[in-house]
Amino acid sequence: MKTYLVGGAVRDELLGLPVKDRDWVVTGATPDEMLKRGFKQVGADFPVFLHPHTREEYALARTERKQGQGYHGFSVYSAPDVTLEEDLKRRDLTINAMAKSTNGELVDPFGGREDIRTRNLRHVSEAFAEDPLRILRTARFAARLQPLGFTVAKSTMALMQQMVDDGEVEHLVPERVWQEIQRALHENEPGTFFEVLRDCGALAYIIPELCQEDEFQAAISALRCAHSSGGETAARFAALMSPLPMTEARNRSAQLKAPNDCQDLARLTTSLIPQIHAMNSYRADELLRILDEADVWRRADRFAGLLLTLKCALPETEHEKLDWLESAQRAATAVQAKELMAQGYRGKELGEAIRKERLQRISESNHTH
Ligand code: ATP
Ligand code: MG
Repeated sequence: MKTYLVGGAVRDELLGLPVKDRDWVVTGATPDEMLKRGFKQVGADFPVFLHPHTREEYALARTERKQGQGYHGFSVYSAPDVTLEEDLKRRDLTINAMAKSTNGELVDPFGGREDIRTRNLRHVSEAFAEDPLRILRTARFAARLQPLGFTVAKSTMALMQQMVDDGEVEHLVPERVWQEIQRALHENEPGTFFEVLRDCGALAYIIPELCQEDEFQAAISALRCAHSSGGETAARFAALMSPLPMTEARNRSAQLKAPNDCQDLARLTTSLIPQIHAMNSYRADELLRILDEADVWRRADRFAGLLLTLKCALPETEHEKLDWLESAQRAATAVQAKELMAQGYRGKELGEAIRKERLQRISESNHTH
């Protein structure tokens, strides 16, 4: 039996990037032999094991063949006679399909090193077309490696376009799509992810509302801003959705099965944008209405992310209003229900009194305007 370092670790080492986790492929072994050596089996469908000490993943060399449509239509074949090269051949991109033997020798049957040199994201073989998730992965690697000068190879872009035309993207389940979007939002150039998806036609299936040039450009620049401001996933996603009308943003977020905090922030952002545009002067009642809608009373934690997203989504000419909103929030949250209760307010009257007091304080906080 022989073991090889494979995939991302080999790629990142050649790129001079920090290696996060190391994956290994084992040839010439059976599951029983692995168990005898103390490895723990983790894969239910695939023969994948954890090293007893390092906890790194060791997979028996395997081939995969597509059977029928959809994501689960794969048959996996693993046996001691499956070669390293056969295992590398099932992988998505040439830069991900290299291996390194324990004595440091590079195994590179598909020209991964040359593609690293020429900055190409290129599919390993026509079998790429068997899994539409690879379109999203390729777009994500483009987003990650764009700053190093990588682009999607012409032939790979053509293959991805063909896959989209063949309706392959429709077979992706929302959970997998969301997982890739979520990761892409945190890559170096998240906008590149969506550019690649647009260029191959996949965006029309994933977020069709963003296919119009104006919306697309606005979404990308808001996203870039949320990314460079260090926004969390929800802020980045809401920035991406920010050019859309609220109902479209809400429905799309739900269809993507984005987590609740992402859906909420996308809905809130797109609901507030037109209200902020419409506000022409410092108006305490309008500011309070926005704070009510944002539910800052119970969701103070969300307010910083909301402001960041709005700042990224709105043109500079509107930013002063966000300062108003921020000082209104500070003034209004200082209102203490306790104090009003001490004055004898209860129930409905208490609610009214709180509201009046908040309005009052928001008005007073308008020193600068
Ligand atoms: P990362 O740095 O994001 O972990 P990675 O290259 O290690 O990048 P993983 O998702 O961890 O990516 O997968 C490990 C390896 O498995 C990849 O390098 C690739 O060779 C292969 N791989 C993973 N998913 C697929 C897929 N859907 N189709 C083909 N090959 C895949
Ligand atoms: Mg990995």
